This record gives sequence, structure tokens and C-alpha cells, in this order.
Amino acid sequence: MKFVRIKLFVCLVILIAAVSFSSCSRDPLTEDPTIALTFDDGPDSLYTLQILDILKEKNVKATFFLTGKHIRQYPLVAKRIVNEGHSVGNHTYSHLYISSSSDSVINYEILTTQHLIDSTCGSNSKLFRAPWGAITVQQVKNLELQGYKNISWDIDTRDFESTSEEIVNFVMEHPHKGGIVLMHSADYSDMQSRAETVKALPEIIDRLRSEYHYSFVTIEQLIK
Ligand SMILES: [Zn+2]
Repeated sequence: MKFVRIKLFVCLVILIAAVSFSSCSRDPLTEDPTIALTFDDGPDSLYTLQILDILKEKNVKATFFLTGKHIRQYPLVAKRIVNEGHSVGNHTYSHLYISSSSDSVINYEILTTQHLIDSTCGSNSKLFRAPWGAITVQQVKNLELQGYKNISWDIDTRDFESTSEEIVNFVMEHPHKGGIVLMHSADYSDMQSRAETVKALPEIIDRLRSEYHYSFVTIEQLIK
């Protein structure tokens, strides 16, 4: 009888130790991994609105890199983006290819867009993303001296040339903690559809949540 009690006691100690150890060792893993959805080239009066509706319905906050030209054309959509809790960033005024542009043109494009972000959206964000990601190391340094944070991406959906199925599959094959997903909420030249992006978005959100337990953050939340 005594032997059985000792055995039971030992088992209990081992069990408590195992539970304590597993709960301690699991702490970092119980924190949901975060991922940031980003949308370039908006706002517009069609796809950006559809994307905002989906994000609202799914309770997801994202980041929109806006061109000054489009903010000026669609100020109410630009304002809605910020009003609904999303972050915005500067994507130049005319979707400029900045790595081969002069400093004065770049400064004009960025400052004009920044003024529109401040005055139209009511945001003091100083995030920047170069069109096509084309920017030199020196230009990044110059921007940083002016207080901007240059934001790239590491999950490029190439949504501008992909079907919704391809967009979903690409994201689901490449998610990682702290990842930045690149999509587009408009076309900088207003020529191309973004319907496939809109179609893919609900499934991307649902599957990142259900299959990987991701939570969605803005770039400002991701980098702070
Ligand atoms: Zn762009």
C-alpha cells in the first residue's frame, strides 16, 4: 500500500512538473504570430472601397500606401481609410520611379503627398514605400534623415497579374511571423482591375487565422 502511495506521489510530481514545464515552454508560442497586409497605389473609388468593406467585416487593420494624385482625386476614401483605423503611408505623388529621379523632383513628390496625408487623412504617419520598391541606399538614408521609415515587403503576391486562386495560394505558401504582404487596392495608372485582389482577400484572412492563428497588424504596430 505504502509503495503504491509513493508511486502515485512520484507520478503526481512528474505530472505537475510536466504541465509546468510545458506551460512555461509554450508561453512564446501561445502568442499569436502577427502579419501585416499592405495595399499600394490607392485610393480609388471602387476596389479600395471593397477592400475596406472586407477589412471592416473581418475586423482587420491594414496599411495603405497612397499616391498623392489619388488622395487628391478621392479624398473621402483616403479619409475613410484612416477613420477606420488603418495606417497610411507615402507612395509618392505620381507613382514616381525615384531611383532615377532628381532629388528636387523626389522631394516635391514626397512633400506634396505628405501634405495631403496630413491635411486630408489627418494622419501624421511618416511611412514611405517606393513605387516598385526601386530606391537606392542613399535615397533611403536621405528619407530616414527626414524622419521617414522606408517600408518594403517580403510576401509579394504579384496580384496585378494573378488570379485570386494564385494570390491565395502564394500567401498560404509563404506566411511567416512578422511578414509584410504586398497587394494593391488600386492601379496607379487607373487602367487595371483589382477584382482578383478583392476576391482573394476574404480567403487570405480566414485561412491565415484558421490555419496559422495569425493576427493582423498595421505596419506601425509591426515596427514599433
Ligand atoms: Zn505602387
